[in-house]
Amino acid sequence: MHDFNLTIDGRAYRTAARFDVINPATGKPAGTAPNATAADLDAAVAAAKAAFATWSQTSDADRQAACGAVAAVLGDHAEELAALITAEQGKPLNGLGSRWEMGGAQAWAGFTAGLSVPVKVIQDDNAGRVELHRKPLGVVGSITPWNFPVMIAVWHILPALRTGNTVVIKPSPLTPLATLRAVELMNTVLPAGVVNIVTGDDTAVNLGAAMSAHPDIRKIVFTGSCATGQKVMQSAAATMKRLTLELGGNDAGIVLPDADPAAIAEGLFWGAFINNGQTCAAMKRLYVHDSIHDAVCDALVAYASKIPVGNGTEEGSVLGPIQNRMQFDKVARLVADGAARGKVLLGGAPGEGLFFPPTIIAGLRNGDPLVDEEQFGPALPVIRYTDLDEVIAAANDSPNGLGGSIWTSDLEKGRKLALRMECGSVWINKHGAIQPNVPFGGVKASGLGVEFSDEGLAEYTDLQAVFS
Ligand code: NAD
Repeated sequence: MHDFNLTIDGRAYRTAARFDVINPATGKPAGTAPNATAADLDAAVAAAKAAFATWSQTSDADRQAACGAVAAVLGDHAEELAALITAEQGKPLNGLGSRWEMGGAQAWAGFTAGLSVPVKVIQDDNAGRVELHRKPLGVVGSITPWNFPVMIAVWHILPALRTGNTVVIKPSPLTPLATLRAVELMNTVLPAGVVNIVTGDDTAVNLGAAMSAHPDIRKIVFTGSCATGQKVMQSAAATMKRLTLELGGNDAGIVLPDADPAAIAEGLFWGAFINNGQTCAAMKRLYVHDSIHDAVCDALVAYASKIPVGNGTEEGSVLGPIQNRMQFDKVARLVADGAARGKVLLGGAPGEGLFFPPTIIAGLRNGDPLVDEEQFGPALPVIRYTDLDEVIAAANDSPNGLGGSIWTSDLEKGRKLALRMECGSVWINKHGAIQPNVPFGGVKASGLGVEFSDEGLAEYTDLQAVFS
């Protein structure tokens, strides 16, 4: 059992009430988390606001060093944090699981430490000088989901700190433990009040909603569902907060007739099933050309049927349970509907508890709920196509536009087609690969703004032009 406290103003902060955090592999509590009130949130925001006065004035080199120290402390405690992630999120320790998530968290933190937003001189001549300065905003509110609790926290916190802001983070009620500990650890190397954390169960008070409306928070960085992102945007309007919204996706993969089924099967599987499909930029629908449809399905099923599903703490588990009951029920509903409309090639029947086997269903098309909705689980609908223009139109026929992929032996053709896809990232012969030096974000209903790279960093600043 893990029973961490909040960290506010550099100190352990006890709340009157706590709530249970459930281990999805066992259905038993993994620990408890503080159930913060609106007054506790105010204390966290006040601490962040007070710390901003000093932190925003620290030198660029000092902030770079502090972010480097955060990367190091996360690396030093990677095993402990990975165990917490597995206990509350369910993903296995090994493979593309919680140790991999911690590797990503450390890499992103280290890379972000090395980024900067230097002053730009736009003009310097007889007519005068114009400088562009990037100034920190103030208190940044970070709201995170339950699929990558430490990595997404790092994606939010590090660029905010690097540019001189202070932070109040609120993790998902379903996965608060690893984030509570990660923030506690960050506070061992940062000045008091620079990073604060609140957790709550979203019942008596919805802390995310309170943060979006809070007058002393200047920006919200939010990763989560489209529906909640829209609420954040609405309530942020009153105080004109800056926003970065990383929302849901319904990524399409398109296999062209010249692809080699055996060569792409592994990439297709992990593109769709990474973290059990509970990944914003996982492939959620797969369009395969008629001429190789059956060969691709056979190769994919052959690969997927060898993947062991089990408790993430067990050595051989490659995929864990679905993280929570609501998500499980949604996947079960969409899969049952898909099974009635198409042909189940693999899986299809829910397992014990929150376990659900990798499921592949062919014979579906746009308009079917498993194709149109973000299932966010271990289920992949396969759609047969014959015409290239039609398949591009079908892939783009979605309110979402996070990522997409093209699978082909002709890279040049793939790159050309990529430009016709309405999404923030397009991958050729892979899906979902992200890098800290490449901006990442969704178009259409998948979000607003980007994270990562110097472009993501700039979103934590206001621009000021100085004319002289
Ligand atoms: P969610 O929207 O239910 O919750 C996200 C966070 O918002 C949680 O911390 C929750 O407590 C908080 N919240 C709840 N109500 C709120 C309100 N009214 N105002 C402000 N905050 C509120 O999302 P989830 O189920 O935790 O996560 C899954 C979703 O996240 C999927 O749609 C997935 O695609 C998306 N996601 C997107 C990205 C990306 O980078 N685009 C990454 C990961 C996940």
